[in-house]
Amino acid sequence: MAVPRHKHTRASVGQRRMHIFINPAVLTTCKKCGKAARPHMMCANCGYYKDKEVINVMAKLTKKEKKIREKEIKETEKAQ
Ligand SMILES: [Zn+2]
Repeated sequence: MAVPRHKHTRASVGQRRMHIFINPAVLTTCKKCGKAARPHMMCANCGYYKDKEVINVMAKLTKKEKKIREKEIKETEKAQ
């Protein structure tokens, strides 16, 4: 097995890894609900993309979750 010949200092390891990082996610606001969403993707909150409903978000929720979500939607519509 190959064995490293010299010790790598913390500085040289750090210099090599200075380009290794994760960029923060780019977010835009949803036109329908106003929540943060990724660009060119369906809004996870309301299920809309380009003013069209892609998936029904309410279909998989339980009764209690549906009530909470409907309340949120009413409040956002009132605010607009
Ligand atoms: Zn939305």
